[in-house]
Amino acid sequence: MSAATTGLPPYDAGNIFARILRGEIPCKRVHETPHALAFHDINPQAPVHVLVIPKGPYVSLADFSANASDAEIGGFWRAVGQVARDLGLESRGYRVLSNMGPEGGQEVPHFHVHLFGGRRLGRMVPAAP
Ligand code: AMP
Repeated sequence: MSAATTGLPPYDAGNIFARILRGEIPCKRVHETPHALAFHDINPQAPVHVLVIPKGPYVSLADFSANASDAEIGGFWRAVGQVARDLGLESRGYRVLSNMGPEGGQEVPHFHVHLFGGRRLGRMVPAAP
C-alpha cells in the first residue's frame, strides 16, 4: 500500500523510533524479538506506559497490514501480548492504543502501539477540546 493510498506521508527513516532501532538513541528496553522492540515511553501517561514497535519501516497500521510479511505481523502482535503478560497487566487489565495520522494524534511516524496500565484508566476517548 503506497503512502498515497494510506493518506499518510512516506516513511521517514530519520524518525525517532527508526533512530532507536538503529541504536543511535538509547531506550529503556522491555522486550526484543526479531520483529519487535518494546520500550518504556519517555513521557509516561500511566504507571505502566510501554511502546511496542515493529522493526520494519511502516508508518501506519494500514501500511503495516498491507506490506509487512506474515512473520512480521505475527511476530509483532505476539510481542505485544508477551509484553502485557511479562508486565503482569493481564489480571488487573490494561489498554492497547495506536494513534494514526494527524487526527489520531500520531507524533512519531513509525507504526507503534502503546500499552497503558497500573491504574484505572479513564474514558476511552476524551471529549474533543
Ligand atoms: P504517538 O503520539 O502515538 O506518535 O506517540 C509517540 C510517543 O513516543 C509519545 O508518547 C512520546 O512520549 C514517545 N516518545 C518520543 N520520543 C521517545 C523516546 N526517545 N523514547 C521513548 N518514547 C518516546
